[in-house]
Amino acid sequence: MKVYYGDVFKGHETGPGHPENPGRLDYALAGVREAGVPLSAPRARDDVAQRLETAHGRDYIRYVEDLCSLGNLTELDGDTWVSPGTCAAALAAVSAMLDALDSKEHAYILARPPGHHAGRSGRALTAPTQGFCIFNTAAVGALYGEGVAVVDIDVHHGNGTQEILYDRDVLYISTHQDPLTLYPGTGFPDEVGRGRGEGYNVNVPMPPGLGDDGFKEIFDDVVMPILRQYGPRALVVSLGWDAHKEDPLADMGLTLNGYRYAIKSLLSLNVPAVFLLEGGYNYSVIREGSKMLAMELAGLGRAPPEEPSASDHSVWGRMSRVLAEVRSIQSKYWRL
Ligand SMILES: [Zn+2]
Repeated sequence: MKVYYGDVFKGHETGPGHPENPGRLDYALAGVREAGVPLSAPRARDDVAQRLETAHGRDYIRYVEDLCSLGNLTELDGDTWVSPGTCAAALAAVSAMLDALDSKEHAYILARPPGHHAGRSGRALTAPTQGFCIFNTAAVGALYGEGVAVVDIDVHHGNGTQEILYDRDVLYISTHQDPLTLYPGTGFPDEVGRGRGEGYNVNVPMPPGLGDDGFKEIFDDVVMPILRQYGPRALVVSLGWDAHKEDPLADMGLTLNGYRYAIKSLLSLNVPAVFLLEGGYNYSVIREGSKMLAMELAGLGRAPPEEPSASDHSVWGRMSRVLAEVRSIQSKYWRL
């Protein structure tokens, strides 16, 4: 397995007080070091610009490059900033993704800026902003070669990834907090893909407060059965640590036990899995989660240092209704 990291990823600046800041990577690195796993530097790849155009329009790429060349911190929208180092960081993230998929090994990419809210031309679907995201690294990975599936366990719906993949037969499965209660406001079960992509988009909106028990149920009942039937050659995992109960930007009830269950389930498919850091804004969760993931990928897994969480009765009831709805909609395409 490999962990990709370079200081280039800290060159993306977001201004004072921003939750998505370069310091997040120090905590992730500390966790990976505690796991005793070495780091690999992202290479500069000749094909990165060409691959980027599989996910984004040229006008958008040029617009971002122009902002990077201004020489100062520029507001792209109310949430999202571009600094002189942003383009190098975002391109290095894409390079690391392509390298990781080429290597056919498990990987954890400690990159920023995040990407899953970035659509073909920037802002995706009905979202008010790009939610800290610049280029959609996960979507570029999904469109690199045949048979890649994307699983998005960031607490926010990956509206950018969904938009880019929506009419392609590339599987995208997202678990996220109920879009009626959280940015970006999309990710409902009836968004199933279009044309050739119909049946390849799977959204599981989770009620706020859902615990590890509910997340396990979602993986056992929907995520894993669909993945097994799709039979991916490789997995790209948009990994946000922000579904953790201690995250300051969301309201879910997971602990690292829930994350570990999801990670072990995905690894049980026995195909290379590339975990890409997206969100996650509690520093100790980023550190402990990164340590746990690095150890799982290295085959040294052990239980995280917190008790598993349980959903209360009303949250469990809401989750059961959501799962029934997802099953009923997706059973047109998959045996569930
Ligand atoms: Zn997020």
